[in-house]
Amino acid sequence: MDMNLSADDIAFRDEVRAFLDENLTQALRTGLARTPGVFVEPDISLAWHKILYEKGWITHGWPVEDGGTDWTPMQTYLYEKEVALAGAPKPAPISLQLIGPVLCKYGTPEQKERFLPRIRSGEDFWCQGYSEPGSGSDLASLSMRATLENGKYVLNGSKIWTTHAQHANWIFCLVRTDTEVKKQAGITFLLVPMDQPGVKVTPILSMSGDHEVNQVFFDNAETLVENRVGAEGQGWEVATFLLQNERGGSCFAPKLLVNIAKLEEYAKNHLTADGSPMTNDTDFMSRLANLKLRAHALEYTELRIQANIANGRPAGPQTSLTKLISSNLAQDIQTLHNELFAYEGLQLPSERPLYNDNAPDPIGDHAGQTSLAAYLNGRASTIYGGSDQVQKNIIAKRILQL
Ligand SMILES: Cc1cc2nc3c(=O)[nH]c(=O)nc-3n(C[C@H](O)[C@H](O)[C@H](O)COP(=O)(O)OP(=O)(O)OC[C@H]3O[C@@H](n4cnc5c(N)ncnc54)[C@H](O)[C@@H]3O)c2cc1C
Repeated sequence: MDMNLSADDIAFRDEVRAFLDENLTQALRTGLARTPGVFVEPDISLAWHKILYEKGWITHGWPVEDGGTDWTPMQTYLYEKEVALAGAPKPAPISLQLIGPVLCKYGTPEQKERFLPRIRSGEDFWCQGYSEPGSGSDLASLSMRATLENGKYVLNGSKIWTTHAQHANWIFCLVRTDTEVKKQAGITFLLVPMDQPGVKVTPILSMSGDHEVNQVFFDNAETLVENRVGAEGQGWEVATFLLQNERGGSCFAPKLLVNIAKLEEYAKNHLTADGSPMTNDTDFMSRLANLKLRAHALEYTELRIQANIANGRPAGPQTSLTKLISSNLAQDIQTLHNELFAYEGLQLPSERPLYNDNAPDPIGDHAGQTSLAAYLNGRASTIYGGSDQVQKNIIAKRILQL
């Protein structure tokens, strides 16, 4: 694999840099930097979404005929890297990276026409209804029922850990439509409007007090039969395609390298007990170097996967490797960050958001103010999108052939 950038790639990278310089406001950067949750709130993500939409870059990962760009995998990687370096927030990934590509592949022409423009423009905000109490890793055991009555599916049951359901006007759900067949064969994929009497959203607060996830209850909720994606019983295939997108073609390393570089900067200004900067502390610096090495190794793995994709080979189970490595690395960076900020890193403000005029003043640096909450919320990264143990099972079976 040739790791040198071509002249075209360098020109593309410079175009992205110039665009970010001109359009990414300080308020958006601050919004991301002072968000301790896993996802940025829609006031930040949608503001940036609209700017990217006007530029034509919002759905860059989609097929060209559905509004995507014709970027090469390397250009996509360069874009993500520049975005990470510039500190831009991530526009609603559940809409853009999960349901959007599913509709591009499995949607009927009517579904595409109805939903894709509204996802691109940010008018619709989606959440993901996969997990249920008792069905997370073993997703195929899900039990929420949907029965077809007079051209409508009637839904009963609940979904849990539903990210940003409190903001969403649509949810895509995996539901059980047949209990007589093999577990996977009885699952169907439905698009369900949230704004109806049969849907109730109940918040679940994280350890830091952040409201990102919810339990969603369906009590005779309804959706029209034309909101079914794929055939009845084809939901598992659709779900699997989506999960591959959730884990696949990743670009985690640039953001992690940025976080490590920030940590190094903070270390220069933080003093040890003897009054010298933390950068003189050999234990701290060796841990930082270890993180950096792991992040660089991850970046090369991600670039290798991109090169495979460019040569027509799918990302495949290697994405389990990058998910596993990146989420553990992210947690280790957060741990060191928290240790560096010492007593400042113990503050846990209850107000949200922490980026507007009403936010409480930090004790010390703003980065210390969000450190503990980010650390606590970051524990989730080795659970969502497939837990560590599940990724290790995939690696054992499909990469190591054990
Ligand atoms: C912050 C956050 C946001 C989320 N957002 C969403 C969302 O928007 N929509 C949605 O549908 N879901 C969402 N989830 C749910 C997430 O997908 C599940 O939490 C995840 O799949 C694990 O399922 P579970 O919580 O039921 O744990 P379980 O599956 O019960 O797992 C419990 C423990 O057992 C281990 N384990 C399970 N099976 C095996 C096995 N076969 N071998 C070895 N160990 C195993 C797991 O690794 C874990 O440690 C979110 C979760 C979090 C934390």
